[in-house]
Amino acid sequence: PDLPDLVVVGSGFFGLTIAERCAADLGLKVLVLERRYHLGGNAYSEFDPETGIEVHKYGTHLFHTSNERVWEYVNRFTEFTSYQHRVFGRYQGQVYSLPMNLALINSFFGKSHTPDEARALIAEQASEIDTKDAKNLEEKAISLIGRPLYEAFIKGYTAKQWQTDPTELSADIITRLPVRYNFDNRYFNDTYEGLPVDGYTAWLSRMAEHPNIEVRVDTDFFDVADDYKGKVPIVYTGPVDEYFDNREGRLSWRTVDLVQETLDVDDYQGTGVVNANDADVPFTRELEFKHLHPERAASYKPGRTVVVREYSRFAEEGDEPYYPINTAEDRAKLLKYRDLAEKEPMVLFGGRLGTYKYLDMHMAIASALSMYDNKLKPHFADGAELK
Ligand code: FAD
Repeated sequence: PDLPDLVVVGSGFFGLTIAERCAADLGLKVLVLERRYHLGGNAYSEFDPETGIEVHKYGTHLFHTSNERVWEYVNRFTEFTSYQHRVFGRYQGQVYSLPMNLALINSFFGKSHTPDEARALIAEQASEIDTKDAKNLEEKAISLIGRPLYEAFIKGYTAKQWQTDPTELSADIITRLPVRYNFDNRYFNDTYEGLPVDGYTAWLSRMAEHPNIEVRVDTDFFDVADDYKGKVPIVYTGPVDEYFDNREGRLSWRTVDLVQETLDVDDYQGTGVVNANDADVPFTRELEFKHLHPERAASYKPGRTVVVREYSRFAEEGDEPYYPINTAEDRAKLLKYRDLAEKEPMVLFGGRLGTYKYLDMHMAIASALSMYDNKLKPHFADGAELK
């Protein structure tokens, strides 16, 4: 049978960047295998047919980067809107502006503070515990921002995210809890930020448009591995433990259940993302997707909106792995998997699942571009050994 020059396992941003560069820059024939019914990995989105609202299937995806090369590269496939992400948090019947800033401090404590007054207030409240004495996440957080802000904005949210009381969580999970002593409430501070004008799927599909690229969806690599392993170079972006039959044990992940509902209101919450900070509200966030694209307002069905609630929990077998938990045990297993990966002939491991690392989209793309520069191009263009 006709073998491709390169097999890419997984069609997320990492896999598609590799495929696009190898096809467009080197003229290689690339076969991309994807086990889901669609390409695009976790950034994939669909337009809800009834309301016309773009729904991010695997949680809201906001693009941002300060990497010039990545920005130039992504602009080859899509234009970006001028959307700037802002997040709010609901607690005990009030909504506050996040990240923690002067607006939040003023409304939470019920009076206006100058930046210096706010700084002094938080420093005083944080003096309850010395950071170096903090024995768990709760004590660490209190030592950084004081008990009142911790109890309102960190405690319940963190407990829900980790299904664990913060007194049982390691202090190492947080290093800083930044408080801004000004009214800046932009979520990201990167040079470039925006959302793809025609949506994520149009962007991802354009990356795969080159005639030398074939994307085969509904195809699990492990069902066809014998056709390719050891015969052509493979870039594998699936879970690294799964590649090795979990022989060193499973790496642990958190997953998120996304529960979608279409409501009979034009505007449910007035913004894209509202965190649920109360411990007794079971979900962590509510997403209202129409607000990510205000420029599409005329195309939306009036009087309807799509809302998704996120419920965070530990991933079990068969769940989507979203956030690496990264316990000491996980790190020990990962070292063994890295060793195995390095010895695996003709296979390179990449992406967030292949390296067990949370990667933002721009990081996944940057990392793929450097794998292309440092490993694939030297191999295919100059005959260097692939490792
Ligand atoms: P993925 O997108 O996960 O792609 C891997 C692909 O491999 C998947 O499609 C999977 O089905 C496929 N696969 C796995 N195993 C096999 C197999 N055996 N055979 C065939 N196919 C296989 N980034 C941002 O920049 N901004 C955000 O706001 C943001 N929000 C996020 C929210 C959530 C809930 C999550 C989980 C991630 C978010 N990200 C965000 C990160 C973004 O999703 C990743 O950067 C991106 O998905 C990384 O791409 P990837 O190609 O490494 O992995």
